[in-house]
Amino acid sequence: MSYVITSRCVGTKDQSCIEVCPVDCIHDAGEQLIIDPAECVDCDACRPVCPADAIFFEKDVPAEEAGSIAAARQRFGVADPH
Ligand code: SF4
Ligand code: SF4
Repeated sequence: MSYVITSRCVGTKDQSCIEVCPVDCIHDAGEQLIIDPAECVDCDACRPVCPADAIFFEKDVPAEEAGSIAAARQRFGVADPH
């Protein structure tokens, strides 16, 4: 489990999340930012500072944003545990 940035980041990308992440696991992925699931320590620092409410703990990601979980895993080569 890790935190996940959904497509709500697209068009905002203000990087508030990057500033508060203690392990620097949030990266620019072009249209939006993306969290490395292997590095995220589930500290919840990023979620409340996001002005777009784009960040969720993995199990709380809305169904229509499930693709964001798969995209992050694929990008960072993390195996899908499901
Ligand atoms: S704080 Fe939210 S909107 Fe801003 S870059 Fe991070 S995920 Fe995107
Ligand atoms: S939950 Fe913590 S470690 Fe994970 S991306 Fe957000 S700020 Fe970084």
